Order: sequence, then structure tokens, then C-alpha cells
Amino acid sequence: MFVKNLSLQHYRNYEELKLEAFGSVNLLLGNNAQGKTNLLEAILMLALTKSHRTSKDKELISFQADAAVLAALIERKYGAVNLELKLSSQGKKARLNGLEQRKLSDFVGTLNVVMFAPEDLEIVKGTPGIRRRFLDMEIGQVMPSYLFHLQQYQKVLVQRNNLLKSAFQAGQEALVMLEVWNEQLAEHGVKIIKRRKQFIRKLQRWAADIHLGITNGSENLELTYLPSFGDADEEDEAVLLQQFMIKLSQLKDQEIRRGMTLAGPHRDDIAFHINGKEAQVFGSQGQQRTTALSLKLAEIELIHQEIGEYPVLLLDDVLSELDPYRQTQLIETFQSKVQTFITATGMESINAAKLKDASIFHVQSGQ
Ligand code: ATP
Ligand code: MG
Repeated sequence: MFVKNLSLQHYRNYEELKLEAFGSVNLLLGNNAQGKTNLLEAILMLALTKSHRTSKDKELISFQADAAVLAALIERKYGAVNLELKLSSQGKKARLNGLEQRKLSDFVGTLNVVMFAPEDLEIVKGTPGIRRRFLDMEIGQVMPSYLFHLQQYQKVLVQRNNLLKSAFQAGQEALVMLEVWNEQLAEHGVKIIKRRKQFIRKLQRWAADIHLGITNGSENLELTYLPSFGDADEEDEAVLLQQFMIKLSQLKDQEIRRGMTLAGPHRDDIAFHINGKEAQVFGSQGQQRTTALSLKLAEIELIHQEIGEYPVLLLDDVLSELDPYRQTQLIETFQSKVQTFITATGMESINAAKLKDASIFHVQSGQ
């Protein structure tokens, strides 16, 4: 798919912006704090309705304004689509070809993007919660029903935790209610677990290949799903459901004592190994960064496989970290297939000859 144009009103430091004439590879050049990342973030917002930097939409609206409007024309295989997203204190409103969407989940997925930003290093280095968020964002993008189960699961989890906190006093009655929550927790939980396992299994294949390419054949990358119960390869829903229920009954006393739910997808994790060694513990900064990059690039292939079209690639501050060989590798891997937006502070950091033919946009003070 292809972003044909983009317009922003009162978005971050952009008061009024209209951009067109995007090419296949687009370089956004400018000094620090001029609005390069803000521009990539705006494209991401139109894809996911969520920012990678904040969960508070208020921060996205220009300091002096009450509402922000983002719009873009996207070319897809099946035709062109106008996307519009309005952010205000009343929440988010999304339109497709002028038609307001009742649910944001109907809007998400019209534009698909893969973004790589400096924060993504945390997918490898950071807490399990960050890795789960990565899984949720990426799977949700290609599979809206996943987001539905995730929302339901989180609702049930909150209620079940409240019940567990009060179960000490409430006694027998609470235990009957617990059974009801167990069923609902497991029902949505296994859908999430199954999708995550499928996703990681497919991602692993692409990521390993890409990682070998970027590291000139020297690094073997392996991804493993670490579920809170059962074994990582089990994908049969009925089996998972049974295992989940058994695990919950085993944990019952402990859960009541601690007042929280101790098994389920909210406690899953992923492990990364490079040449057999855990990347989180033993990986150098560069290896961890390359691991995160390989994951993101693998997603491009995965989305293509899933929806039959390549997503748009957003690369924030990545080039300066890569040597000329890796820059060239990166661009050549996707050049003719994937529309790419890349930020950099200046042409000095650009070594790959191919990049010198890109469409260049100079970003200065929100213009
Ligand atoms: P760097 O090279 O340092 O990454 P950048 O060009 O990517 O810089 P951005 O992060 O896109 O910079 O933009 C940062 C600028 O946007 C900051 O000056 C910040 O004050 C401004 N900014 C952020 N949020 C808002 C907002 N809600 N309203 C107005 N300006 C904002
Ligand atoms: Mg930036």
C-alpha cells in the first residue's frame, strides 16, 4: 500500500501541514526537535489510532488547540481510501471515505504500518509487559478480533482480581463467582494465547532469515514463546482451555492469598536467543538493536502474507546506527516493494547510494 498524501491540523508542532508527492523511499531531514518523529507518529496514528510514544491523546494535540485532525489518502490494491482521524477531549472520531466509523476497530487495519523507533530496543531489553504490548499491537493490526478478545480478557481480569482481593472475607459465595470468572477468563485467554503462538511461530521464520542477512550470516536469531502454563507449541483451543482451567484450579489457594490472577496471557513473555545465548542478558547493545530491527522487518513479510499487501515502513533514527553495508542491506531488502519513510538529521549520516535518490523533505519548526 502507498501513502499518497498527508495533511495535519494542530497535531503536535504542526499547525497546518499538507504534503504530497511522496515517493517509494522518503527521507525526512531536519535538526533535532523540528517534527520528524511527529510526522512518522502521525502516519502511525492513522494506522493504529494509537501512538508509540504516549497513551494520552491530549499530548498529541498542539499546545494551543482543542482538537487535532489527521488525514491521508491511501492507495490499496482494491482502491483508494481516505482516512481521517480527529482527536479532541471528547475522544477519537475516525472516518473512512467520509463515513464515520462506529468502532475504531473498524478503522484500524485500513492502513498498515511497521515502525521502528529507538524505543523498540526495549522489546528486547525491557520488561515482559513491553513484549506483550508489542505482540498485542502487531497482532491487533492484522486481526481486529484479537483486540476484541484482549479487551474482554482485560475486563474479566480486573473483575476477577477484585473478587480475589475480597475472597478472604467473602468466603464460600465468592468461590462460586470465581468459577464463573474462570470460564470467561479462559474463553478469551485461549484465543489470545493461540494467536500469539501462531504469530511468534511465523515471525520466527522471517526474523531468523532477515537477521542472518543483516549480520552477514554470523548471527542465528531464535524466538521462543514463554507461556504461563502448558507448552509453547500447543495451539489447539480445546486443549489450551482445559490446561488453563486446570492451572487456575491448581493456583486457587495461592491466588486468594495474593489477591491476583497468576496465570494467563497477561503473564506471558518472549525470549530471544542469538547463537544460543539469551539476547536480553548477553547481547551487546548493537545485537539487541539488530534483533529488534529484524523483528520489525519480519513483520513486513508477515503482514504481506496475512493481507496480500506490503505495509508502509517507518524508520525513525535508524540510519545513523547502521554502517553503509547495513544501510544498503536494509534498503535493498524492501526497496521496490515497500513504501518507506526514514528520518535523519542530515545527509552526512546517509551512506547508501540508493538513499540519495529518495524523495527528500526538509523538516523545520513544524513545516
Ligand atoms: P529529534 O531529531 O530530536 O528526534 P524530531 O524532529 O524527531 O527531533 P519531534 O519529536 O518530531 O522532533 O518533535 C519534537 C517537537 O515537537 C518538540 O519541540 C516538542 O516541543 C514539540 N511538541 C510535542 N508535542 C507537542 C504539542 N502537543 N504541541 C506542540 N508542540 C509539541
Ligand atoms: Mg525524533
